[in-house]
Amino acid sequence: MRVLGIETSCDETGVAVYDTALAGAAGLRAQAVYSQIALHAEYGGVVPELASRDHVRKLLPLIRQTLAEAGLAVADIDGVAYTAGPGLAGALLVGAGVARSLAWALDVPALGVHHMEGHLLAPLIEDPDPVHGRPEPPFVALLVSGGHTQLVAVEAIGRYRLLGETLDDAAGEAFDKTAKLMGLPYPGGPQLAALAEQGQPGAYRFPRPMTNRPGLDFSFSGLKTQVLLAWRDSDQSERTRADIARGFEDAVVETLAIKCERALDAAAGEVLVVAGGVGANRRLRARLQAMAAARGGRVCFPRPELCTDNGAMIAFAGALRLAAGQRDDATVRALPRWDMASLPPLAAAGRE
Ligand code: ATP
Ligand code: MG
Ligand code: FE
Repeated sequence: MRVLGIETSCDETGVAVYDTALAGAAGLRAQAVYSQIALHAEYGGVVPELASRDHVRKLLPLIRQTLAEAGLAVADIDGVAYTAGPGLAGALLVGAGVARSLAWALDVPALGVHHMEGHLLAPLIEDPDPVHGRPEPPFVALLVSGGHTQLVAVEAIGRYRLLGETLDDAAGEAFDKTAKLMGLPYPGGPQLAALAEQGQPGAYRFPRPMTNRPGLDFSFSGLKTQVLLAWRDSDQSERTRADIARGFEDAVVETLAIKCERALDAAAGEVLVVAGGVGANRRLRARLQAMAAARGGRVCFPRPELCTDNGAMIAFAGALRLAAGQRDDATVRALPRWDMASLPPLAAAGRE
C-alpha cells in the first residue's frame, strides 16, 4: 500500500510517500520538508496566520515534487494520511483539506494521524537493528519536542499510557527560550546545542529539576530562569555564553536521562524509544545510549531529520493504520487538542 503523508501542524510543510510493500527504511520512497523558519524569524516565533498561508502556497508543489522523486503518479497512491492534530487550527486545516480532497478525488481512503503518534513511531521507520531487530511493544517512549515532553508506556501500537509529562515548558521550548534570552536568533534550540559543544563542562552547573523526588513528571521553566540570572550576572562574553549553554544542555540531558531510567525501572522493560525534535540532540543521544548500555538494554532513535517535524512519520503511522483497515469518514478532521490515550489500538482499528 502506497500512502501519501502530509504534515502541516505547525511551521513545517512535510510530504512523504511510504510503501508498506517494501521492508524497513526502503519503504520511505521519497520525502520533502519545507521549513518556514525564515518566514517567522523576524517575529521571534511562529505567527499562526502566516503559517497557514504558507502551507497553502507550499503544499501542492511539495506533493508534486515528492511524487516525482518517488517516480509515482498521483493515481499510484492507495491512501492519504494527514496530521489531524494536535497543532495550530489553521495550519492543520490546510493539510486536512488538501488530504481529504485528494483522497476523495482518487477514491482512496484518508486517515487523520495524531502528530505525536507520528513522532513516536518514527524510530520504527528505520531498518531493524541487525542484532536486536525492530523495537516491539511493550516499550517506553520519550517524546521530546517543541510542544511536548512526555514519557509514555507503549503497550501496543495505538495503546499509549502517559507515565509523566512536563508541568510547564517542553524540553524543546526550554531550549528555544533559553537561546533567545542569551541573544541567539530564532529558533535557538539547535544553535544553543551547537554553542554548547564549545562550552566547558562544569563551568556552570544548573539544577536537575524534579529529580530529587519520586515521579516521572518534568519542569523546565525554572531552569530557564536560572540561566537568565546566570547570564545577567556574567561578563556576557562569547566564552561565557558557550559555558552557560553547556551547563543548560547538561542539566536538560541529565534530567531526561534520570527520568528515562526511572521509567524503564517502573515498566520493568529495557527498550527505550526516543522521538521529537530534541531527540536530534547529540549529547542526549549519547547519554541515553550510555544509560541503556549500562543496563543491558537498548535505545532507538530515528535519524536526526526524522526527529523534527516531517511527512515521513505521518505517512508511516498512517500506513500502519490504513493497512490494518482503519478508515475515517469523509470529515475534514482538525483537532488542535487531541489526547493520544484516546487513539484506537492498531489491532482493533479495523473493527472500529
Ligand atoms: P510538537 O511536536 O510538540 O507539536 P514541534 O512539532 O514544534 O512540537 P519538533 O519539530 O518535534 O517540535 O521539534 C522542534 C523542537 O526541537 C524545537 O524546540 C527545537 O529547538 C528542538 N530541537 C531541534 N534540534 C535540537 C537539538 N539538536 N538540540 C536541542 N533541541 C533541538
Ligand atoms: Mg517546527
Ligand atoms: Fe512535532
